[in-house]
Amino acid sequence: MKELRPPRPDLDGLTPYDAKEPKAEVNLSANENPGNLPHEVVDKLAELLPEFAFNRYPDPMSGKLRQLIADANGLESGNVLVGNGGDELIFDLLLAWGGPGRKLLNMPPTFAMYEIDAAVTGTELVSIPRRPDFSVDEAAVLERLKAGDIDAVFVSHPNNPTGNLQHETFLIDVLNATDALVLVDEAYFEFSRHTMRPHMQRHHNLVILRTFSKAFSLAALRVGYLLAHEDVITELTKVRQPYSVDRFSQWVAAMVFRERVVFESQISDLIRQRDVIQHGLDQLSGVVVYPSEANFVLFRVEHAAAVWRDLLHGHGVLVRDLSRAPYLEDCLRVSVGSPEENARFLRAMEEILVARRKSGLLGTTNGESLNGHGGS
Ligand SMILES: *Cc1c(COP(=O)(O)O)cnc(C)c1O
Repeated sequence: MKELRPPRPDLDGLTPYDAKEPKAEVNLSANENPGNLPHEVVDKLAELLPEFAFNRYPDPMSGKLRQLIADANGLESGNVLVGNGGDELIFDLLLAWGGPGRKLLNMPPTFAMYEIDAAVTGTELVSIPRRPDFSVDEAAVLERLKAGDIDAVFVSHPNNPTGNLQHETFLIDVLNATDALVLVDEAYFEFSRHTMRPHMQRHHNLVILRTFSKAFSLAALRVGYLLAHEDVITELTKVRQPYSVDRFSQWVAAMVFRERVVFESQISDLIRQRDVIQHGLDQLSGVVVYPSEANFVLFRVEHAAAVWRDLLHGHGVLVRDLSRAPYLEDCLRVSVGSPEENARFLRAMEEILVARRKSGLLGTTNGESLNGHGGS
């Protein structure tokens, strides 16, 4: 056949997700831990590697890792599901709780995968936009839940890319207001140090997502996990790919999880560095910085796309350009890196803004100046 029967027509509007990023000396774009695995862990891996059974299929349910996570959270292993990154688990949740004729309540701007996975699974998206300061419109969400037709609610907590936590009282109100599956995405839990875990006992519709990709330096391997009522986990095991989490990843993640205390001082350092970035950006006129409880900072700057280019091409610093995303006009997101990387980013920002303002005053740019923005 020279012809190809068309695929699902509802995929027409989707653009392929291409996370490929330009190369940069300093990459502050993906909220990764700037440090590789601690040498204690790497040494142990190297020592045990010759005995690793590469020839064997993995345990489909990541039994060892699952038990470790359950124990650490005061749960049974039946309350834990390990996935190929948090992303796979989000997809699985929509395979089981979404689908044609079903609805996901979303609060944009938020993690882009929620919307993409809703589209791929044919789930109808019900969007309740956040306020200009990126706080959730709590009354509107609770009001919308009253109709009783929402099947799942996803909340990123803290919210990526805006950085803020929701009020705990609001999350409890949501859990009380609906029997829909409520995903509280705690991908940045290790930085925010806030969790809804204590509410699992009372709310069977609460599902918590965590990941090894951010605080635990394991973005390369793709390991995330859910904490949920055992009925939720059972349902998800119907739709998930049985061997999605490979044996090597299970092994390394278990080792990292056992040794997780060694990350603590580093996480505290990253939190302090986040404050350095926030403070540094706050000093720059023409920049609006949003508070963050995660390992990244969202900020608004005039002509953000041009500033992003200057950062990359003039200074070798890559940040995330969100300026074309809905509700995020002129917004950039910078991940917390090493002290040197953060200093380089801040120095670059200052130079770029000074240069742009100067050329604006001289009238030599195409109207891309920061004047009229007052000193803030
Ligand atoms: C990074 C992230 C995830 C999951 O990341 P994985 O690398 O797939 O584990 C989930 N939710 C949010 C909000 C994130 O930022």
